[in-house]
Amino acid sequence: MTRCGGGALIALLSVLLAAPAGAQWYEDTQPIMGTRVHAELWAEDPDHAADLLAQVMTEMRRIEQTFSPYIETSELSRINRDAPLGWVDASDEMLDLLAKSYRVSELTAGAFDITYASVGRYYDYRKGSRPSDTLIEATLDAIDYRHVKIDWQTRQVHFTHPAVYIDLGGIAKGHAVDRCIELLARQGVTEASVSAGGDSRILGDRRGEPWRIGIADPRDKEAVTVLLPLLDTAVSTSGDYERYYEHDGVRYHHILDPTTGDSARESMSVTILGPEATLTDALSTSVFVMGPDKGMELIDQLDGIDAIIIAADGRMRYSADLEELQP
Ligand code: ADP
Ligand code: MG
Repeated sequence: MTRCGGGALIALLSVLLAAPAGAQWYEDTQPIMGTRVHAELWAEDPDHAADLLAQVMTEMRRIEQTFSPYIETSELSRINRDAPLGWVDASDEMLDLLAKSYRVSELTAGAFDITYASVGRYYDYRKGSRPSDTLIEATLDAIDYRHVKIDWQTRQVHFTHPAVYIDLGGIAKGHAVDRCIELLARQGVTEASVSAGGDSRILGDRRGEPWRIGIADPRDKEAVTVLLPLLDTAVSTSGDYERYYEHDGVRYHHILDPTTGDSARESMSVTILGPEATLTDALSTSVFVMGPDKGMELIDQLDGIDAIIIAADGRMRYSADLEELQP
């Protein structure tokens, strides 16, 4: 008994000695990529923590400079200008994200399609304006992910239709979150969370407890409908309440059905859980477009991926694995 108690005391002492007095949570929030970027991590030293947080924000800004369609000098803007005319050089990172986008398009029968922007570029949600039916009809042919060709030998890209315009807004924030989590993990961080708007990823647990990630009520952004206890997971939510305007009682929002060029309206919010944010981001947009029935059917076929869908009528639906966990 005594020996056992002594062992426990020594174990406790060594834990106390291993945790330096300064160890604590550090966080930062910055407006980047048109959204709120937040990072939080457990670190022992304030200078080291500040350096890590700064690295995260620098990486986020670098990715914005590469993939933003609003920055004229971004690689994406250059490709959009030149790829309809001929083959153009692309960075490894661009090719990687284009290839991942293509795979998600195949997986979702085209619900995810970065060429949606051939029509999507003519919406302005802030001004409350949308393309005319004539313009939609004239450009709808340009929406087809197969128009985006990659030559892996020369590492170049070409669009095989003159009106193609791509936007990686449905996958780039997830990519950015993954890059930042990897950056932290490489430098020995074991407990952290990084989010960019609706895309988050958590590393490890929260001092022995799970992280708690909330899903917003789609009709009251400040209210949380579900609180998910999570470890080491990526979570992405796509909602019809992020960027939208209403006209004659119809909501025009930023997730478009590639077959119509109009907003997808079968869901209010789709949350996807999985190991990597690049995939959960792309899938949250995809499942939103597919609608609750087809979307959930796809998610239930994918190992390690779960979904919570709030349908247009407000009903919540859980993928099979989450359904089993319900009390
Ligand atoms: P956000 O975090 O910006 O709300 P979402 O993951 O909900 O992102 O995706 C919405 C974004 O995805 C849109 O702003 C647009 O850039 C892009 N997008 C819209 N429709 C599609 C689509 N059918 N396929 C691929 N990307 C899309
Ligand atoms: Mg998404």
